[in-house]
Amino acid sequence: MTDLDWDGAVDLLSAARTVVVACHVNPDGDALGSALGLGLALRARGLAVCVSFGSSDGPDEVVTVPATLAFLPGQELLCPPAAVLGQAAPDVLVTTDTGSADRLGPLEPLLAAATTLVIDHHASNTRFGSALLLEPAAASTTVLVAELVHRLGVRLTAPIATCLYAGLVTDTGQFQFSATTPAVHALAGELLAAGVRPELVGRELFGTAPFAAVQLQGSALARAVLEPGLAWTWIELAEREAAGLPLAAVEGVIDSLRVTAEAEVALVAKGVGPGEWAMSTRSRGTVDVGAACVALGGGGHRFAAGVTLHGDLAEVVAKVRSALP
Ligand code: MN
Repeated sequence: MTDLDWDGAVDLLSAARTVVVACHVNPDGDALGSALGLGLALRARGLAVCVSFGSSDGPDEVVTVPATLAFLPGQELLCPPAAVLGQAAPDVLVTTDTGSADRLGPLEPLLAAATTLVIDHHASNTRFGSALLLEPAAASTTVLVAELVHRLGVRLTAPIATCLYAGLVTDTGQFQFSATTPAVHALAGELLAAGVRPELVGRELFGTAPFAAVQLQGSALARAVLEPGLAWTWIELAEREAAGLPLAAVEGVIDSLRVTAEAEVALVAKGVGPGEWAMSTRSRGTVDVGAACVALGGGGHRFAAGVTLHGDLAEVVAKVRSALP
């Protein structure tokens, strides 16, 4: 599974003049942190860089950055998906934290037009690129980007380090998940030494939400259902839209639900379209929710995974329930 073609990656990027760095739709701190961190490093090497991604919260003609990620350095590199598709294909497309081609959303057609380097740590990765930096044991995709930046000979500036730290702190559950190895803390130390302000990153990523999101989270938790082994709740598209909140604003609900002591698995169904639900799952340790979501057509990791399903609420929850061991 591990496939780390460092020489191939460095050769590809050394020969390129134009690069698009793309991450999965509705990016989290690891996806966008990886993309912007690498984008800044490649710009320092003199490349023309666009960083892009699709979003269910906005049209392809604009870049819709989740509010919690608006602090990430390098936003000047962002290009709307429509603009990327409308210009000449880049020499190289790099994808970060993206387990399969469809997760690129509107940018998926770019795969046919450009040589692709895949940088990822999802065990479910479908190996859709011609060069791979794939390590399921990596705590975050930014761990792999940090090594690549080093091999490219780019100095670790505070802006690059901040992007990489955002991915590291996000995907390790703030250094609490089992992927938090000595090497993870060593990298965190290196990033802090480069100028990361952990208290600012933490406040932006995990400590700030609009009041409407706090209230909606309260509603969702108040109606949560506890079944043997499973705690689940839902957020309707209509109530989220009535509150004026993007999908990203309710991503934190799963983190509150997953503390439920009586349930091994937590599930939050979030309405994203008519009869369309983004299902987020978390495991407290013994259940592999990644396998369950992959079986349903989604992706993720052993302890955190997701899948988009269609149907009414009872149907989509039943699908996830039936895929769990
Ligand atoms: Mn990740």
